[in-house]
Amino acid sequence: MPDNLQPEWLKTLVKAPLTSRLRRKESLKRFNTWRIGGVAECLIDVVNIADLSFLLPFISKHRIPWFILGKGSNLLIPDTSWPGIILHLSGEFKSWKPLENTSLTHKINHISAGAALADVTFAQRCANQGWTGMEFLIGIPGTIGGAVAMNAGAHGRVTAESLLQVDWMDMEGNLHTSSRNELVFRYRFSELNGNFGKIITSAVFQLQQTDQESVEKKLLECQQFRMEKQPYNQPSCGSVFKNPPGDFAARLIEDSGLKAKKCGNAQISPIHANFIVNLGGASSADILTLIETIRETVFSKYSIYLEPEVQILQSSEYN
Ligand SMILES: Cc1cc2nc3c(=O)[nH]c(=O)nc-3n(C[C@H](O)[C@H](O)[C@H](O)COP(=O)(O)OP(=O)(O)OC[C@H]3O[C@@H](n4cnc5c(N)ncnc54)[C@H](O)[C@@H]3O)c2cc1C
Repeated sequence: MPDNLQPEWLKTLVKAPLTSRLRRKESLKRFNTWRIGGVAECLIDVVNIADLSFLLPFISKHRIPWFILGKGSNLLIPDTSWPGIILHLSGEFKSWKPLENTSLTHKINHISAGAALADVTFAQRCANQGWTGMEFLIGIPGTIGGAVAMNAGAHGRVTAESLLQVDWMDMEGNLHTSSRNELVFRYRFSELNGNFGKIITSAVFQLQQTDQESVEKKLLECQQFRMEKQPYNQPSCGSVFKNPPGDFAARLIEDSGLKAKKCGNAQISPIHANFIVNLGGASSADILTLIETIRETVFSKYSIYLEPEVQILQSSEYN
């Protein structure tokens, strides 16, 4: 690309002393589980704290559109180009470290996990040690950062329940440690989210000691449940809508007669009505049309306006 077409901030950024890899004009299709989306002007695989603490103030100073991405498993990325920076944690953010066991009975274990560590890896490693509490993560195809940011949950448990503390960075590049009790978590909500200018860098969990066999049995049950009830082999973002109080979004969508409805190459899953699947080559516009159809149809039938659980890629406002 000719130099004069590059944004001014990018000309400065490419000269910055970063260890992290900076990619130009990167397709975002590979960075989300729907396999949808346009091209990002700049995507950075941020490998360490030093680079992150340089990048966040840089983004603020130059007022660059930005977004922090985990595995994009709860994200709808528009088909249009993204004019700014996508931060993608990697390198030292994939750490997994059991901390010294300080409990007298050795029944409680503390584990520090980097924000970019895959949930599945975390669940599997904890199971190998016989540590129970976070088995549900085996079926969630995101990262630890995404799990804390979304307060991800399944099978009656949520991420915040086993959290002890979280390390996060503000837009000035300062690192903070907050204990679980200082933080607000609700159903699929956390005050720690890139959307609020707070980047999770790692989290400490406390898990109960039990035996490896029973933890692995739970992992298997969680996996089997998904294989039976969800379209696990088709690209999706999991549940598109939050469950309204006292009801299930999937039931409302199914009872509105919308199961299997298509728009372009996107379809409301015939297996689970709260999933929208990409049949191959779906656009974000196809998905958005189905989302709107569901909201309007369910509202006209039940007077319930379903709230999306899926996040839509748009510039984080806190810069
Ligand atoms: C097949 C399938 C099944 C699923 N099942 C479940 C389920 O059972 N329960 C459930 O809760 N979810 C489920 N999900 C949704 C999704 O996996 C979770 O919400 C997951 O926690 C998102 O993690 P992620 O790393 O992919 O985050 P992303 O989708 O990349 O991001 C989600 C949000 O988190 C923010 N974020 C990500 N990383 C950070 C960070 N380090 N610091 C600050 N903010 C950050 C992003 O900015 C964005 O706002 C499912 C998805 C799929 C595809």
